[in-house]
Parts: sequence; C-alpha cells; structure tokens
Amino acid sequence: MKATLRTDITVGDICKGFYYNTLEGKGVNGWGGKLVIQPEYQRNYIYANNKDDVAVVNSLLKKYPIGLIYFLKVAEDRYEVLDGQQRITSFGRFVTGQLDILDEHGMPHKFDPAHHAWLLDRPLTIYICEGEGDDPEAEIKSWFKTINIAGKPLNEQELLNATYSGPFITEAKAVFSNSSNNNMQKWQRFVAGDPKRQAVLAEALNWVSKGRAAEYLKAHRYDTSITELRNCFDSVIAWIDSVFKDVKDEMCGLEWGRLYEQYHATPCDPDKVWERVEALFADADDKKIHNRRNIFEYVLGGEKDPMLLKVRIFPPEIARKAYKIQTDDAKRKGVSNCPLCAVGHAANASRIYGLKEMEADHVTAWSKGGDTSAANCQMLCRAHNRAKGNC
Ligand SMILES: [Zn+2]
Repeated sequence: MKATLRTDITVGDICKGFYYNTLEGKGVNGWGGKLVIQPEYQRNYIYANNKDDVAVVNSLLKKYPIGLIYFLKVAEDRYEVLDGQQRITSFGRFVTGQLDILDEHGMPHKFDPAHHAWLLDRPLTIYICEGEGDDPEAEIKSWFKTINIAGKPLNEQELLNATYSGPFITEAKAVFSNSSNNNMQKWQRFVAGDPKRQAVLAEALNWVSKGRAAEYLKAHRYDTSITELRNCFDSVIAWIDSVFKDVKDEMCGLEWGRLYEQYHATPCDPDKVWERVEALFADADDKKIHNRRNIFEYVLGGEKDPMLLKVRIFPPEIARKAYKIQTDDAKRKGVSNCPLCAVGHAANASRIYGLKEMEADHVTAWSKGGDTSAANCQMLCRAHNRAKGNC
C-alpha cells in the first residue's frame, strides 16, 4: 500500500458539493464530486446522535486536531473514504447547516459564514492510499482488518462487505441494512442485532448460503440482482408466520434458516402448534422445562427430542425401550425388573412388573444435570420411584 500524506486539503475543500442524505442517514459525496464519503462497504453513519457529531465540530472550532483521515484512490481524481467517514459527515452537516452545535450556555448555533469562515480554511491531515503490486485488492482487504472505523473494529459482516464490495452488497445493504425499511420492525422480531451494524444482512446471507456467507458473496459479488437472497429471506419469514400464529420474545435470534431447512416441508396445524407452544411455556413457568428458546424447535420436530428442552419427562418410546431391556435382563437373572426391588429381601425381589406399574426415572437426577435421554433412563416400580422423590 502506497500512502501519500496531504496537509493541503481543507475542511472547505471536502465540503464542496457535500451532500447529506437525511433519509438514509449518510454523507454521500464531497470534495467537488471527487470523493465518495460513504462507499458501499462502509459502516453507516452512526455519529448522528447530537453527541459524537457535535464533539467533532467542537474539536474543529477549538482548533484541535480531529485525527488522521484516510482516502483510497480508486481512479484518477476518484477517491473513497477509507477511514474518517463519521468525522467528515459530521463537519459536512455543520457547514451545510444541517447540524446545530450547542455553546456553553446550551444555546444551539448554526454554521454562520460571517463568523466561521476561517473554519473552511482549516487543513486536514489526510493519507491518500493506493493499492500496489499484483493484488491491490488483497492489500485493501487486509487494511480493513487493521483499522477501526469510528473507534470500533469492524465486525465480521462489515469486513465481508468491505472485502466483497460491489453491486451485490450495495443492493443487499439497501434492503437489509436500512432501518427505515418498512419490514425491518417485523424482521427484528425474528432476527436479533442492529441492522446498521449489518446483523440482519448477516443473517439473510447466512440463510441463503446455509452458513457460507463469504463463499456466497464471492460468487455473487458482481451480480446486480439480489432476488435469490430476498426470496430466501422472505420465504423463511413467511414460513415462520404461517406456522406460528403469534410471536414471543424468545423467537428473536433463533436459527430460523436451519429450522426452515429442516421443517418447512413438514405440514403442520398452526392452531395445534401454538396450543403446544403455550402449554410448554406454561411448563417452563412451572420450571419443568429449562430451555424456553428450544420450545419452538421441539414442537416443530413433533416433540420427539426432549434433550432440546431439558425436560423432566421421558417420552414413552424411551420408557418402553428401557422397560424391555431391564425386563429381559431381570427374567434371565430371575430377579425383579425394578432394580431397587431386586436388591431387597421382600417378596417383590423377584417380581416382574408390567410396564404400566413402572415409571421412568433419571439415573443421574435431572436436578443434578442428568439428561432426559435413553442412557439416563431406568424403570422403577411406582413405589420406589415415588420414594426416590427427586427425579
Ligand atoms: Zn421397586
């Protein structure tokens, strides 16, 4: 990477043609059209909070340095902001009258050309970077891994956006990273995280690529259509809507992509599904179930996998299997099929109980972390099971 230091570019230069898109919350262009302030791979403008943005302007007004700014030279007289987007957008909004600052008395002030003209002549400290060598793109990617934009390291999806920037990411961000999207509120019932930090986009990509987002982006980087991504996301959301009649907080952030793959082809009765969900939530309130978030998957799977819930009650097929093994073994040895009766001296020591006379018991107590699984199941006669108490 070749980096050239420029100290001759001023606040006024950068603000020439500055345009702030209020709707999308981003500074778009500057430097007389030469500079893209928020390239598609950049994080959204997050300083618009009357604190960080005002702090940038106040630093400039006090003639403090606002730190190094990096531009990437993408073509002759064409630049993109690598690092500095938040700061540039903040002072750009001030200079164009779109950001008020507060004085020490708490009074708001707009940019006043008569008063603040000197500000436009303040030089900035800018490094202009150019990728060099055989693989300039690789250099730019590694650059992104080392810089912190707006004081926070890029998260995984932001890095992917930077690495695979192009028409596909631009389109995808317009849909999935846009908090003013009408669907966002609904989507966020099922998808956790901040859309501005790319959490919804990350999940959409995760679903469509079955967990291989980077490969998917590499393959589709120059596509101009995101139809497949949209269709997949919409299908998953529509399926959730069709199966579950209502929404619970615990549904947010589940692995819906995987659940869709696993269960969408299985027909189900939404009335029955929701009735079971409600019943199991009541069980969870009674502390019979430990994992509420898995209730949805448990119901989708026909309630066959109690491990999901850490439930106390063995399903009948596990009890039946344990009964058969124990009873066959007991008959061979000529002892009771209740292991506790078998070691006693009473008349029941050789009694073979019927299945209905026995109950499934956790060998390692459920309260001590014992699973409700076949390996941890033994059948006891009812008297012994009740006497044991703590199941
Ligand atoms: Zn017994």
